[in-house]
Amino acid sequence: MIKNTIRTFVSRLFAAPVQKDKRRIYSQEQHKIDRRLVSRNAIKVCEVLQQKGYDAFIVGGAVRDLVLGYEPKDFDVATNATPEEIRPLFRRARIIGRRFQLVHVVFGQEIIETSTFRAPSQGNQHTDADGRILNDNVFGTQQEDAARRDFTLNALYYDPVREIVIDYHNGVADLKNHLVRMIGDPETRFREDPVRMLRAVRFASKLNGTIEPATQAPIHQLAGLIKNVPDSRLFDETLKLLTCGNAIVALEQLRKEGLHENVLPLIDQVLRQPGGEQFVQLTLERTDHRVRSGKSVSPSFLFAALLWRLVDVNWKKNLARKEHTVPALSQAADLVIDTHISKMAIQRRHTADMREIWFMQPRFERRIPKQIWRMTEQPRFRAACDFLQLRAACNEFDSVLAQWWMDLADATPGERTEMIDGLTAEQQAAGPASPPRKRRKRRSNASSKSRTTGGGNTTGNASSGSPAAS
Ligand code: ATP
Ligand code: MG
Repeated sequence: MIKNTIRTFVSRLFAAPVQKDKRRIYSQEQHKIDRRLVSRNAIKVCEVLQQKGYDAFIVGGAVRDLVLGYEPKDFDVATNATPEEIRPLFRRARIIGRRFQLVHVVFGQEIIETSTFRAPSQGNQHTDADGRILNDNVFGTQQEDAARRDFTLNALYYDPVREIVIDYHNGVADLKNHLVRMIGDPETRFREDPVRMLRAVRFASKLNGTIEPATQAPIHQLAGLIKNVPDSRLFDETLKLLTCGNAIVALEQLRKEGLHENVLPLIDQVLRQPGGEQFVQLTLERTDHRVRSGKSVSPSFLFAALLWRLVDVNWKKNLARKEHTVPALSQAADLVIDTHISKMAIQRRHTADMREIWFMQPRFERRIPKQIWRMTEQPRFRAACDFLQLRAACNEFDSVLAQWWMDLADATPGERTEMIDGLTAEQQAAGPASPPRKRRKRRSNASSKSRTTGGGNTTGNASSGSPAAS
């Protein structure tokens, strides 16, 4: 009995964080961060700063991930040293930013973003008519720095030297409950920066959690403020939302909060196209799967896939007007990019890649050995083959033929030679290639085409039959 009481007392003592002023301090036994998941370079930055007498902590998303046991993708450090004090301490460090300066400490491929504690809005900031902060660049204390962060789960400070987590806003508890709770008055903070509404949705979806009711309450009414956000920032945030690892849930939540019209108006249009819902669903499922298995997702592939049904519908319309395949596709791509993409701040190189992925699609219909080598040399060949798999999974391209292309993309140069030689022999055995005019006639049926052009092993399960190259 007494033993049990002592045991309970001791376990409570260890479970409860030490509370100092407004802070809770969690020891290693309590936060259980696995040091092997912490970047050596981030630890190094903290150590160097601390050796010089400054405070230095890993902050933000990295601490959130570490407390949950995930490996963070990047690391930020916050310190009471100013940028001028930080820079000379590292061999490769540069001060960046005009509005608010911070330091990039560079270690090979890895950059540790190191910023000075900042103070939150004092009410004397420059804001627009809706309350959006236009400048905030005042250095502050650690406690002030915590208060100007968005959600409690994003305001944790991890000291990798002492292995403690400092928590001013009960973020560890919220994090364990997968609860996204705004620091301060939610409406004011959403007005200050409407992007926080999208971040709330993203973190709730990513953690499979919920937005705390008081935080959620003003979102519907403030959703329209998203239109004040600069395009490039909106695009970055949209991309993060679509690649949070739970994109389908995130889109549902966006819709529920009335945010999607201002964030991804194109999605509704795509969903209205024939087969649009299936294509978007599959694209997002595959994206989630890639993200969860730690693979990267290319923005161009993602947007090429999300917009494909619109491109395809317009392409077919142009073909029905007797236009040739390539100009018909080019016009369709221009139209979709001008209408939906030019408004988003998607970089030009991404739109160039999207076009390349789309333009390779008709070329997959006919396997002409001489041309195949040239196709494999194109930089987006693999992405275009991946894209073809999506189309096959939606029954708009023959799945066996699509697999042949995927195998080719995965093959070594020697294996590629074998595959292409095998195809040549197969086509020769089947007799002379059909004259181009005949082929054009068959372009409304992809499966019969693939059978006549060497896809002798096809299952013929293609359905809508995208137009063939001419
Ligand atoms: P991820 O890197 O997965 O996008 P993150 O939380 O690290 O998530 P960042 O944009 O890298 O997001 O920001 C780092 C930290 O800066 C956040 O954790 C948060 O503390 C703070 N922060 C970022 N954006 C805002 C914002 N709009 N308002 C207030 N604080 C923010
Ligand atoms: Mg981050």
